[in-house]
Amino acid sequence: APVLLWFRQDLRLEDQRALAAAVGEGPVIPVYVLDDVAPGDWAIGAAQRWWLHHSLAALDAALRAHGVPLILRRGDAVDELSRLARETGATRIHAIRHYEPWWQLAESELGRRIDLVLHDGGTLAPPDGVRTGGGGRYRMFTPFWRALKQQMPPERPVPAPGAIRPPARLPKGERLADWDLLPTAPDWAAGFADQWTPGEAGARQAFRQFLPRLDGYDDSRNLPARPGTSRLSPHLHFGEISPATTWHHAARQAQAAAEPFLRQLGWRDFTANIVDQMPRYGRRAGREGWDDFPWRADEAGQADFVAWTRGTTGYPIVDAGMRELWATGWMHNRVRMIAASFLTKHLLIDWRRGERWFWDTLVDADYGNNAVNWQWVAGTGFDSNPFGRIMAPVLQSEKFDAAAYIRRWVPELRDVPEPWIHDPQEAGCAPAAYPAKRIGHREGRERALAAMAAFSRG
Ligand code: FAD
Repeated sequence: APVLLWFRQDLRLEDQRALAAAVGEGPVIPVYVLDDVAPGDWAIGAAQRWWLHHSLAALDAALRAHGVPLILRRGDAVDELSRLARETGATRIHAIRHYEPWWQLAESELGRRIDLVLHDGGTLAPPDGVRTGGGGRYRMFTPFWRALKQQMPPERPVPAPGAIRPPARLPKGERLADWDLLPTAPDWAAGFADQWTPGEAGARQAFRQFLPRLDGYDDSRNLPARPGTSRLSPHLHFGEISPATTWHHAARQAQAAAEPFLRQLGWRDFTANIVDQMPRYGRRAGREGWDDFPWRADEAGQADFVAWTRGTTGYPIVDAGMRELWATGWMHNRVRMIAASFLTKHLLIDWRRGERWFWDTLVDADYGNNAVNWQWVAGTGFDSNPFGRIMAPVLQSEKFDAAAYIRRWVPELRDVPEPWIHDPQEAGCAPAAYPAKRIGHREGRERALAAMAAFSRG
């Protein structure tokens, strides 16, 4: 009988342990199910649909080169897979394990109906195996990372299979074009294709281009104007390259110099470790009581939120970041922190609204990474700075040399000279086309601290 191979956020042939196991057992039916119901509010967002379309097309082409097409289905993943098993006579499903709460539920439900074999490979190590001396789980990054490193390097990647045996009869599948994953008018993704090549080959190419820059990563990773980081995040989210492959290549390239990069990779594992312990972390504050913080939710707050999404806050670094996000589906990490801090502190708007916006606009939107980072910045998480730690956007912009970055993304400011471009309003040289500040830095800071003081007094 054929075996089913269930693809999710592991859209690759190399170091795909579920595929390797399936190939060893008989004819393989590879399947992807678009399930927009089980994830609830975390159904795949608009920017990621663009990515998914191209990534599935690439995976299908790679599989066809082996003589098997990718079978596409839509609906409840557990029901679709059960149905497909009945149609094809398959009695076993191989898949890579994932830690999003809806996938954990689907895995246990499917496992009750059929022989489901789950493999590791979405993280560097299975999160529930990274334990304290006393057997507990970690909630802080640094000790987690120390313990994770004890288990590194990860197992060596398994090569892509040499051959995949097709089944005698293929089940019916849907056409990718019928899924309408790409935007129609207006085509807000028009600029995405210049930036990204979704799929396994694109992931490998992005990584190859980054490796020579690995040595300079620690010095340049905080400078948004420079191509200092790997930009692998969407590829890693969709599993087009495995974390183990990434680890082995990076560690081989430049041993000690690789540490700062590997540490960031460790953050991915950490966020899987957090949502595995607290599945509702995307909604619920890690810090006791913080779900009741009095975020601004009035009309003025709504207008501020809209200005933030559009990149018209009057703070060049925030606006550049939000426009980069809209144009490319990605934002530099340093700028994500500044923009998130500005939303939650200066504008006093609920981090969950920021999380929602990012969810829909990021090509790398990831349940764990998004929620853990938002809560880290907002001060509501297990491991986060106190709420009272407020980033000064202008100082950040100066310190991390963002002038060229601002020029690229905020064309109104193109002609403002260097020292003033970080804060043209203050210097009195803001062009008329550039919006006024939603709130002054000192005023915003004081309002946030006052709200926190009132909240702590209860
Ligand atoms: P590199 O610096 O090259 O790092 C390599 C890889 O390590 C990344 O591709 C990513 O997979 C991982 N990584 C790096 N930093 C982090 C981090 N802080 N947390 C978790 N993983 C990390 N990242 C996402 O993948 N999806 C998200 O939805 C997401 N939302 C975020 C929201 C906020 C408010 C903030 C502050 C950060 C968020 N991040 C998210 C983390 C980080 O900004 C991106 O992973 C990073 O910018 C990706 O760029 P890169 O691939 O060039 O990173």
